[in-house]
Amino acid sequence: MEKKRIYLSSPTMHGEEQEFVKEAFDTNWVAPLGPNVTAFEKEMTAYTKAGHATALSAGTAAIHLALKLLDIGPGDVVFVSDLTFSATCNPIVYEKATPVFIDAEPDTWNMSPGALEKAFEKYPHPKAVLCAYLYGTPAKIDEIMAICKDHQVPYIEDAAESLGSTYKGRHTGTFGRFGIYSFNGNKIITTSGGGMLVSEDEEAVKKALFLATQARDPARHYQHSQIGYNYRMSNVVAGIGRGQLLHLEEHKARKQAIYNQYREAFADIPEITMNPLNPDGEANNWLSGMLIGEGSHVTPDMIMDALEAENIESRPVWKPMHEQPVFAACDFVPHNGDGSSAGSDIFARGLCLPSDIKNTPEDMELIIGIIRNCFGR
Ligand SMILES: *Cc1c(COP(=O)(O)O)cnc(C)c1O
Repeated sequence: MEKKRIYLSSPTMHGEEQEFVKEAFDTNWVAPLGPNVTAFEKEMTAYTKAGHATALSAGTAAIHLALKLLDIGPGDVVFVSDLTFSATCNPIVYEKATPVFIDAEPDTWNMSPGALEKAFEKYPHPKAVLCAYLYGTPAKIDEIMAICKDHQVPYIEDAAESLGSTYKGRHTGTFGRFGIYSFNGNKIITTSGGGMLVSEDEEAVKKALFLATQARDPARHYQHSQIGYNYRMSNVVAGIGRGQLLHLEEHKARKQAIYNQYREAFADIPEITMNPLNPDGEANNWLSGMLIGEGSHVTPDMIMDALEAENIESRPVWKPMHEQPVFAACDFVPHNGDGSSAGSDIFARGLCLPSDIKNTPEDMELIIGIIRNCFGR
């Protein structure tokens, strides 16, 4: 018999989602607007304490609109996290602007404030700094924002992976000029697909809504003075989001328990360290990750192969953007003084562990046993 698949992070539904979706059907609000969309925006701002929000079809769309709202276009430089998913930086290229990749640092695996400083020496006038919070761990936000402030450059937070994480008591995504969240299928809560743009700037968020709904001028006839997008979240999808949001704290607690269980289970293996947390914050632990010590005979591939043989999903750490063929021509600013990349080292020695909140105690034991075995334990 085929072994049960154990997932990295798959959707977990609770029932309320279907009730909100049913309501959308019953009232025939099957459209890219409606009461669920408005309520989901309200409930998200109530939860995160963000000022204003626009629900969108994807986190990537939210990043794209944040760049549009900052008027970023051809020739503009944007400083962006190097160690991240490509969705963080793709919208920079949609606008024909130039990404400059800023290395990660070992303390949080996020954008290195030191490398960011160095980048300003080379490019004094970028149009924005865009930073992702990997696997739910907040970056050194104060340090990064102080640098942005010195240079009067707006800060955008890619909080796609860190919904529910806080830094100094405040939700990630609510620090910068814009914050973005994602509700993709494997995120901590999901709407099957979706995203949200948040900001303190009410006018900007209204403008985002305008751009996301084809930039139609306020006239009865269909008139357009700008190019728009079809980026609005649908009322059906927003219903899923409302049901999921009721369980975000519970998902977070479960993810934290998974992280702690791995950490304790590997505490006696000096070659293993868990992905870092930020002592100034609380992570949602969206994905648990580990780093293998330098000089170990064990490689991430060996562990991923051993898990896959038991039908267990794991995956590498994001491959740094400066190592991607599509971004080969882009500049990169390293964290290390010798010019080597801290992010490339994390990529070479790290991996993401199964972090599905539906994992049973038996699943966790199985996973832990397989990994321990790789280290001869
Ligand atoms: C998932 C993710 C995105 C993209 O969100 P979508 O909703 O899938 O478009 C952006 N940035 C990071 C870091 C992500 O993990």
